[in-house]
Amino acid sequence: RTADYECQVVVLGAGPGGYTAAFRAADLGQKVVLIERYPVLGGVCLNVGCIPSKALLHAARVIDEAKEFAKHGIAFGAPQIDLPKLREHKLAVVAQLTNGLAGMSKQRKVTIVTGTGKFVSPNEIEVTGPDGVKLVRFDNAIIAAGSQAVKLPGFPWDDPRMMDSTDALELSEIPKSLLVVGGGIIGLEMACVYDALGSKVTVVELLDQLMPGADPDLVRPLQQRLSKRYGGIHLKTKVAKIEAKPEGLLATFEGEKAPEPTLYDRVLVAVGRSPNGGKVDAHKAGVAVTDRGFIPVDKQMRTNVPHVFAIGDLVGNPMLAHKATHEARVAAEVAAGHKSEFVARVIPSVAYTDPEIAWVGVTEAEAKKQGIAYGVGKFPHAASGRAIGIGRTEGFTKLIFDEATHRVIGAGISAPNAGDLITEIGLAIEMGAEAADIALTIHPHPTLSESVGMAAEVYEGTVTDIY
Ligand code: FAD
Repeated sequence: RTADYECQVVVLGAGPGGYTAAFRAADLGQKVVLIERYPVLGGVCLNVGCIPSKALLHAARVIDEAKEFAKHGIAFGAPQIDLPKLREHKLAVVAQLTNGLAGMSKQRKVTIVTGTGKFVSPNEIEVTGPDGVKLVRFDNAIIAAGSQAVKLPGFPWDDPRMMDSTDALELSEIPKSLLVVGGGIIGLEMACVYDALGSKVTVVELLDQLMPGADPDLVRPLQQRLSKRYGGIHLKTKVAKIEAKPEGLLATFEGEKAPEPTLYDRVLVAVGRSPNGGKVDAHKAGVAVTDRGFIPVDKQMRTNVPHVFAIGDLVGNPMLAHKATHEARVAAEVAAGHKSEFVARVIPSVAYTDPEIAWVGVTEAEAKKQGIAYGVGKFPHAASGRAIGIGRTEGFTKLIFDEATHRVIGAGISAPNAGDLITEIGLAIEMGAEAADIALTIHPHPTLSESVGMAAEVYEGTVTDIY
C-alpha cells in the first residue's frame, strides 16, 4: 500500500505538546506531519482549557473588583451581563491564538492532516477524516493525544444540564444554582466564574481539603473567601446519586456531614482527567500503555519503542500545558538526532482562582514525608503595603529551605497574580539559589514580589518591614 504522506516525524495530536513538537522538529529541518482530529489546532489548552478559562476568570475578577470597591467609595451598580457578547469575547481570544498556530504551521511547512489517527504498524498511522482514510508513513512518531475529562458513571450524562469543563466553558446560560462536583483546580476555577456571574455555587469534594495535594495552609485564604460567597463547600462528601427531574438535577450526598438531597439547575463534574494513551492503537507499534492509559517514557521522552516518543498529559501527572511544551521540545530534538533530556527540577502549579494559589517544588507535607530537614520562611501579605493598597491582605508567601544547604526547595503563594509571582522561585530552585541569594535580590517596591525576598529574610532572621 502506498502512503499518502511520508515524513521524518509524525506528531499525533495538536495540543500544546503536539504543536510545539511539530514546530521544533520542523525548525530542526525535519519533514513533519501533524495529525489532529479537530479542524483547529491548539488542543484542550487553547480551545477548551487554559485559555478560555482564563479569559472568563478575568471577566470574573473585573466583576468582583468592581463590586468590592463599593466599600471604598466607588460603586458601579449591578453588572449587566451580556452573555452572547462574553461568549464572543472568549471565542475571539481562542480564535486569535488558534489562527496564529495555523499561520505558524504554514510558515514552517508542517503538513496538517485532519482526522483521527491510529497506529496500524510501527511506522504507519492511518488517519480517518473528512477526506477519507489516509496513510502516513514515518521514521519517528511523537504521541501527543492528551487527555479527556473523567465522566463519572451512573450520572445522567444525556441530560444537557450535566456539564464537564468543556460544557461549562460554553457558558450556555448562568444557572441560578450550580453544583460543582470536585474541588480541584478546574472545578474551583469554573466555580469562580459562575459565582461572579451570579450563580449560587455549591462545591463538593471527596477528600478533606479543597485542591487536594496543595499545601493546606495555602488553600485556607481561598477557602475562607469562598465560604463567605458560596452556597456551601462540603468536604469529605461524596455525590452518591444525581437524578434528572423536570425541575432540576437532584443530588444525593454521602458523608458524615453530608447535606440533604438538593435540586440544582446545573451540575459540573470536574473530578479529574484520564489520559488518551489507550485510544491510539499504540500497541500496533509495540508501544506499552498502562491500564490507566498512560504511556511510560524515559528522560528523552522515548517510549519502549525507540522511534516512538510520547509527551504531555498522556505520559503522566501533572497534566499541565507548560509541562507538555517542555517535553515536546525534548522529543522533537531527540527525534532530530540531538541529545536532549527532560530534566526539569520543578514544574509550577497554579490555580487561577481568586486569590490565585501557586506552588512549586516540595510542599511542607512532602518535605516531611521525604524526611528532609527543612525550614520555612513565611511572609504574611498583611505586612505588605501593596497588598493593603489593593485590599488583599489575606494571603502569604511561604518558602521552604533545605536546612543543610539553605537552598530553596519549594514555595507557595496565595495572592492575586500568585501565578506570576511563583516563577521567580522556579528559577531560584533550578539555579540552586540559597535564602541569602533571594533575600539580597532587590525586589521592586511596592509589589507583592517583595514578599518573596521578605520570606527569605524571615528564614534568615534578617527581616525588616516593607511598608
Ligand atoms: P491536549 O491539549 O489534550 O491535546 C491533545 C490533542 O490531540 C487534542 O487536540 C485532541 O483532539 C488530539 N487527539 C487526541 N487523540 C487523537 C487522535 N487519535 N487523532 C488525532 N488527534 C487526536 N494547564 C495549564 O498548564 N494551565 C491552565 O491554566 C490549565 N487550565 C485548564 C483548564 C481546563 C478547563 C482544562 C480542561 C485543562 C486545563 N489545563 C491547564 C490542562 C491543559 O489543558 C493540558 O495539560 C494540556 O492541554 C495538555 O496538552 P497535550 O498536548 O498533552 O494534550
